[in-house]
Amino acid sequence: MLKLMTPGPTQVRENVRLARSRETTNPDLDLEFYDFYKETCEEISDLLNTENPAYILSGEGILGLEAACASLTEAGDRVLVIDNGVFGHGFADFVRIYGGEPVLYTTDYKEEVSVRELRAYLEQDHAFKYATVVHCDTPSGRLNPIQDICPLLKSYGILTVVDAVASMFGEKICVDDWKMDIVCGGSQKALSAPIGLTFLTVSPAAAEAMRTRKTPIASFYANLTVYQDYYEKKWFPYTMPISDIYGLRVALDNVKNDTRILERHREIAEYVRNTLREAGYKVYGNSGFANTVTALEVPEHRKADDILREVADESGIMLAGSFDIFAGKLIRIGHMGEQANWKDVRQTLQALLKVLSK
Ligand SMILES: *Cc1c(COP(=O)(O)O)cnc(C)c1O
Repeated sequence: MLKLMTPGPTQVRENVRLARSRETTNPDLDLEFYDFYKETCEEISDLLNTENPAYILSGEGILGLEAACASLTEAGDRVLVIDNGVFGHGFADFVRIYGGEPVLYTTDYKEEVSVRELRAYLEQDHAFKYATVVHCDTPSGRLNPIQDICPLLKSYGILTVVDAVASMFGEKICVDDWKMDIVCGGSQKALSAPIGLTFLTVSPAAAEAMRTRKTPIASFYANLTVYQDYYEKKWFPYTMPISDIYGLRVALDNVKNDTRILERHREIAEYVRNTLREAGYKVYGNSGFANTVTALEVPEHRKADDILREVADESGIMLAGSFDIFAGKLIRIGHMGEQANWKDVRQTLQALLKVLSK
């Protein structure tokens, strides 16, 4: 098997894999599982520095984004879609599907969102029920200053839905201090658990907006309110994927016990960018570089697919291309989670530079 160095799914540590083989119970009926689920959710909230409850949903990261939009959007709601990347743009679809009116705020994909410019925009127009923003837009490796964007939106009473799937646990996130309403994560990125779970934290203001809707939420699976009383009622909306959650818990413990995890992500990301630049290659973008993923511009006269294949054949490492408007243009190294280790990163850069220099 190739060594994964893609920006998700990521390598999974042995203790996480083993946890998934634990004997299982009936998660609907076994009261101990409700405690286990609740404690696991509390660990997520703690790691994200929030008092807000977290919920773990059975489904990949996309379900978290959709559930946030499904639960907040009512017909005709104006939603500010902050767009400086592929996932940023993609939120407009979820808003539209649930009857909302997405208002795209599109800025240069090479730059992080400018808080100064956003402030000027909001002075003119701030009649939005909520706004969507992506922390790390993975296809291009952009990182947005959500620590400034979310409080700014909040000052206008605009709720925020933050896609932190590719940043969570690789970048600092302080949900309460940064006034973030719904924050979405996924199991298969920096958390380094297998694919299949998404989790969100929900603020009291977001929960209130769901409770006071005039029309019902147009989904069951993507309805966040069905989770709100699971512990008191000892009732889950559907049978929970218990083995996935056993694995997730150990992955969360791994993060919790890794005291230098954020510093290491930052040091490694800087090293990756510097090494590529010093060798004469271009890292995509001018500002807002993520600590979890680096996107390299494919040099002229080279094909992304050829480079990826050669790195795999010669060194046994799997890197990723990109997609949507970046298909064929960028090559991405995922240095997040388990992959944020010096040995694998050095080996990866060596392998990639060797292929590029041919
Ligand atoms: C990975 C990711 C998701 C989940 O989507 P995939 O289907 O795994 O691509 C959502 N948002 C971001 C920013 C991601 O990186």
